[in-house]
Amino acid sequence: MNMQNNNQNNEQNNNFFNENPMLAFGIFILVMVILFKSFMGDSDLSGMMGDPRIKKVEQVKYSDIRKMVKEKQVKSVKITSTMLEATDLSGTTKYVAKNIPAYDMEFIPLLEENNITYEGQVGEGPLARYINMLLPIIFIVAIWLFLAKKMSKGMGGILGAGKADKLISSERPDVKFDDVQGVQEAKDEVVEIVDFLKYPERYIELGAKIPKGLLLVGPPGTGKTLLAKAVAGEAEVPFFSVSGSSFMEMFVGVGASRVRDLFEQAKKSAPSIIFIDEIDAIGKSRSSGNQMGGHSEQEQTLNQLLAEMDGFGTNTPVIVLAATNRPETLDAALLRAGRFDRQVLVDKPDFAGRLAILKVHSKSVKLDDSVDMEIVAKQTAGMAGADLANIINEAALLSGRRNKKKIGESELLEAVERAFVGLERKNRKVSDIEKKIVAYHESGHALMAELTKGSTRVTKVSIIPRGLGALGYTLHLPDDEDRFLKRKYELMAEVDVLLGGRAAEEVFLGEISTGAGNDLDRATAILKDMISVYGMSDVAGLMVLSRSQSSFLGGGVVSNDYSEKMAQDIDISIKSTLTERYEYVKKTLKEYAGAIENMSAILLDIEVIEGTKVQEIIKEFEEENNLESRMAHLENKEVLEEGK
Ligand code: ADP
Ligand code: ZN
Repeated sequence: MNMQNNNQNNEQNNNFFNENPMLAFGIFILVMVILFKSFMGDSDLSGMMGDPRIKKVEQVKYSDIRKMVKEKQVKSVKITSTMLEATDLSGTTKYVAKNIPAYDMEFIPLLEENNITYEGQVGEGPLARYINMLLPIIFIVAIWLFLAKKMSKGMGGILGAGKADKLISSERPDVKFDDVQGVQEAKDEVVEIVDFLKYPERYIELGAKIPKGLLLVGPPGTGKTLLAKAVAGEAEVPFFSVSGSSFMEMFVGVGASRVRDLFEQAKKSAPSIIFIDEIDAIGKSRSSGNQMGGHSEQEQTLNQLLAEMDGFGTNTPVIVLAATNRPETLDAALLRAGRFDRQVLVDKPDFAGRLAILKVHSKSVKLDDSVDMEIVAKQTAGMAGADLANIINEAALLSGRRNKKKIGESELLEAVERAFVGLERKNRKVSDIEKKIVAYHESGHALMAELTKGSTRVTKVSIIPRGLGALGYTLHLPDDEDRFLKRKYELMAEVDVLLGGRAAEEVFLGEISTGAGNDLDRATAILKDMISVYGMSDVAGLMVLSRSQSSFLGGGVVSNDYSEKMAQDIDISIKSTLTERYEYVKKTLKEYAGAIENMSAILLDIEVIEGTKVQEIIKEFEEENNLESRMAHLENKEVLEEGK
């Protein structure tokens, strides 16, 4: 996906002349005119008066000279690049013809025939003169064509309008189904396509209707493109791919002609696969709002796509695969029978899937024998295939930097951590005051995570700035395998842990900062979902108040329909729950003040504490103060006990 974005940029850079064809053509004409003028410039009489015997120079027509030659009235003839001169028999009068024809192959033989002497400098005959004049023009036109071709990546080029060959990439992938892991259901759905592409006659004879269009739906990086390539790879057919966003041009009609071109190419090499990535860029619901500019262009492109899909019958072995992570935004017309009437879910992989994907991608690198991939697979819950591929590569880079011969488990785990929290930014300067705030804030999160049943245990606390914006972080990697359900007390535990940061700032520094903004946002969202989506409150009971139409990305359209009164009740309930939990968290932090002080001091000193050290500090504090241990994750990892 990223690669695609880059291409996009390049294309845009080269589009200058495409978008200003008139300007470009103007420059072209101007250059031609200047050249023409400069060549015509030497057509004067200079150098013709050299002969002292000449008394008279007369301007005549070319045909006049020709006639004089025929009648043997001239003694000699001189042919220059721009004119023809004839000297009469007496040698005193010179006839000059300026406008001479380009081709007169009979003229020289005529001179020979009549025994007239003639001369002309090399390459200065009338023919040569024209060639001389044309050569630079030919040269310029050649350069122009070359540039225009280079510039018009795809269509809309000044001279090559209508060709989309650069935007549509065509290949014969060698990807096989074995390279795509963790998406078994999706693979099951597409195997029949492979068979159809391989033996189209069988199906056609039976009169079987093969789907023309298949929509691959799933979050980014889950292998939709890869799967589409694998279909082509298994069937050994050409793969034409294009990104939906590349259809969106400023010029109306460009997108539509690209679509036409795409289908034309694919039909020519049938059986084949067409893959349209990010189809939502073209297929956005026509009723939905549009960004300025592209409206009618998008509509035309979409209409063309619909027409093309309707245009080829079920007998043409061309299958259109399209990918999107926002199926809910697609125009209903696209999903109708005979178009993309089948949707295949390409979801994030589960534990076994992640393990398989990690294994596929480690084939191309050198792994240490001691590496236990299961640990990596366990720690990467929620990641997509692309993230996992990235982790392997990141670990390889790390190992290289460390001058290792093979990739070790520590590099892999470090790569996992990086994927979760972004790159360390050691060189970012953070003031001492800010460091102190962050140290207490993160200690607060860490303590709550360790003491709250239903939260995940801490793996690492750091006050090294990471990624964009994060000044510190408390990392809790999922310690279970996959979690599809969250219990109510676990959601509440999350809220407590999130409030730990702000509470620590208030309790230990007496001041609060903006550092908790994101925490509070998430805590609020959890409470809101508990009420309005999961039926976990007294306010709304089992009534679901808000429906998200997309399960991916959270980007779907959310429709809220409930009374004004209900809205108020929800607000009041969320606020009072937050206040209540905040008080509880502050109380807990105060009780464990010694532990927090200890953690913050270490953080300020060495910036990073491992999870085990956090647990040690808390345990020590409890023992010193004769407290009954409240640590939630000590004995067994699985917390089944129902919490508050
Ligand atoms: P999408 O099209 O869904 O955004 P891609 O197919 O472009 O995702 O995935 C990008 C890369 O991530 C692939 O080329 C592949 O290296 C890796 N990848 C993603 N999903 C998988 C998977 N299910 N199995 C193996 N590799 C995967
Ligand atoms: Zn925080």
